[in-house]
Amino acid sequence: MKKGYFGRFGGRFVPELLMPPLLELEQAMETILPSPAFQNELNDLLCNYAGRATPLTFCPTLSRKLGFDVWLKREDLLHTGAHKVNNTLGQALLAKKMGKTALIAETGAGQHGVATAAAAARLGLDCTVYMGAEDVERQSANVRRMRLLGARVVAVESGSRTLKDAINAALRTWIAEQSTTHYCFGTAAGPAPFPELVREFQSVIGREARTQMLERTGALPDYVVAAVGGGSNAIGMFHAFVPDSSVTIIGVEAGGTGEPGCLNSAAINYGRPGVLHGEYTMLLQDEDGQILPSGSISAGLDYPGVGPEHVHLHDTGRVTYGIAFDHEALNAFQVLCHDEGILPALESSHAVAYVLEHASRFRPGSRVLINLSGRGDKDMDIIEHALGL
Ligand SMILES: *Cc1c(COP(=O)(O)O)cnc(C)c1O
Repeated sequence: MKKGYFGRFGGRFVPELLMPPLLELEQAMETILPSPAFQNELNDLLCNYAGRATPLTFCPTLSRKLGFDVWLKREDLLHTGAHKVNNTLGQALLAKKMGKTALIAETGAGQHGVATAAAAARLGLDCTVYMGAEDVERQSANVRRMRLLGARVVAVESGSRTLKDAINAALRTWIAEQSTTHYCFGTAAGPAPFPELVREFQSVIGREARTQMLERTGALPDYVVAAVGGGSNAIGMFHAFVPDSSVTIIGVEAGGTGEPGCLNSAAINYGRPGVLHGEYTMLLQDEDGQILPSGSISAGLDYPGVGPEHVHLHDTGRVTYGIAFDHEALNAFQVLCHDEGILPALESSHAVAYVLEHASRFRPGSRVLINLSGRGDKDMDIIEHALGL
């Protein structure tokens, strides 16, 4: 496969001035990242700072109701409450080894911003987070967290004042500050080498879960399911299982309200190929190729594109990409609360929802492994409002 590509997808469609920092990063990925010294230091951070290995939790009540075994990979128990810190610790450490003194990052809901701010503080790096002005207003708790962790939060006023505009602002800043600064990108998308770099740091999820399943059940899961926004928690979970032909892999996109013509975030199901943020991928766009606004009850899935490796896994048929709607995710959230005593993030609730809504497609007695990408405390206001509580 051509470097930086996944089948026809991926690549590096950026202004010339962005090529040097991307090539420098690619070089660091090939030299610094595989070294035992780097891997040992990262592993120490993941275990003793972030809380790895995360548990694999069997769900007794849900399994009895559904007639197959449901297992959850508990990324919600990680420091800062989601899988994102796997990636930010990896990139922050790599940046430091590259001699950089500062991180910049984009954030939508603020989860990646908080995880970047924490990693920067831990490793002694300066941190600036770009966030759409609209999101700064909507996500004030995470803005406060980032500031308390020592990061500067820059409200981006251009365009739709949301995530896509924050990414553009961060890319522009990187051009000017590339000698001192690393751009800590938040998902398995963007220009090469980011999709591969982020997968590298997130694939610890699937490696651990695969070993844990074999230890606990003596067998691989029959199904692996994860929610897909940009695609980092999903590719992190899927990567170790892709060569296992007995394992059915399912990604779940956010379908929005499900009303005809509603906003959604299902780029693989409803999008067309195009270029955004430096990559060739599937995008929500109108007939003229203008990017459409995305929408989901879950802020972390609210992105009009998707990482290129997912599009390739869809193209080759190795992974199936389904949809869960807002009300299905809300129902799954309540089921997991009541039956298993776990408050899942609304993002992760989409993965659980797909399994609940399509339970008849899963073989009776089989093992279903779901990636619980994050915890739901951040979503309480939205959930209570939607449920009329
Ligand atoms: C950000 C986020 C997601 C979506 O991002 P991916 O890159 O698709 O993983 C999913 N779950 C949680 C908890 C998140 O914070």
